[in-house]
Amino acid sequence: MDYSPKKTKELLEKHDFKFKKKFGQNFIIDENIINAIINKSNIDKDTLVIEIGPGSGALTNKLALSAKEVLCYEIDTKLKEILASNLENHKNVKVIFEDFLKRDIFNDIKNYDYKKLFVVANLPYYITTPIILKLIEDNINPNKIVVMVQKEVGDRFRAKPGTKDYNSLSIFINYFYDVKKIMDISKNVFIPKPNVDSIVVEFNRIEKKLSLKDKELFFKLIYDSFRQKRKTIKNNLQGYDLEIIEKILLKNNFSLGSRAEQIPIEVFVEIANNLVK
Ligand code: SAM
Repeated sequence: MDYSPKKTKELLEKHDFKFKKKFGQNFIIDENIINAIINKSNIDKDTLVIEIGPGSGALTNKLALSAKEVLCYEIDTKLKEILASNLENHKNVKVIFEDFLKRDIFNDIKNYDYKKLFVVANLPYYITTPIILKLIEDNINPNKIVVMVQKEVGDRFRAKPGTKDYNSLSIFINYFYDVKKIMDISKNVFIPKPNVDSIVVEFNRIEKKLSLKDKELFFKLIYDSFRQKRKTIKNNLQGYDLEIIEKILLKNNFSLGSRAEQIPIEVFVEIANNLVK
C-alpha cells in the first residue's frame, strides 16, 4: 500500500469517494504516525485485533502485518472497493460493512482462535463514548484498547473524583482499565483536516480488580447516581435501599447529601456489592 498523501488522494478520487462528515471521516495520511501507533500497541501473532472504521485501510494494512487476524467494522459501503484494493495482499483481514454499534461483537468473534484481543482504531469522533461503553458493557473485554480520539475527550477518560469531567464513563473505564496517554496528534495529519487536535490513549485491562459481585447492578447504580449531575445521591437513588447506601457513605466520610461526582470508584463498588440480595 502506498502511503503518500498524493497517492491516497488519487485513489479516493479514482473511486469518486466523497468524505462524509456525518460518519466522522478524517483519514490519517502520515505513515510515521501509523507506525508509532503499531509499535506502541505491542500486537503479535497471537492477537486478534478489532478495528472500528478502517476508512481507506491505512491503519488496517499495518495491523494485518503484525496481528494474527484483523476484524474491521466499516459503516460506509462506498469504501468497499478502496479497501479491497488497499488490502488485497492480506488474507487475515475481514471487513464487516455495518454499524459497529448495532453488531453483536461477542457473536462475531466467537469462532476466532486467539490468545489476546485488542481494539485499535482511529475512532469516528461523533460516537467515541458509545463505542467505548459498548466494548465495556457487552462483555467483549479486550485485553487492550488503543484509540485515537479528540484531545479533550481523551482527557475526560482519565478524570479523577471531584473534577467536572468525572462521570459514569470515567468510572467504568477506570474500574476495568489502566488508562494512559501515548501521544499527541496534530490535526495536520488528517484529510480532511479536523478542527481540533487528537491524542492516542491506551487502556490496559486490570486483571486484579476489586471484586464486583454483580456487574449489571454496578452499571445501573452508576448510571442512576449520575442521572442528574447537580442532584444528591439521595435524590438520584430514590427506590434503592438508602439505609444500606447511607451506612457505606458515612463509613467513607460521605453522606446521602453528597453528589456522585465526589465519590470514588471503590466506594461505588462497596455500595453495589452490599446491595446484592
Ligand atoms: N481508520 C481510518 C484512518 O485512520 O485513516 C479512518 C478513521 S475515520 C476517523 C473513522 C471511520 O469510521 C470512517 O471510515 C467512518 O466511515 C467509520 N465509521 C463511522 N461510524 C461508524 C460506525 N458506526 N460503525 C463502523 N464504522 C464507522
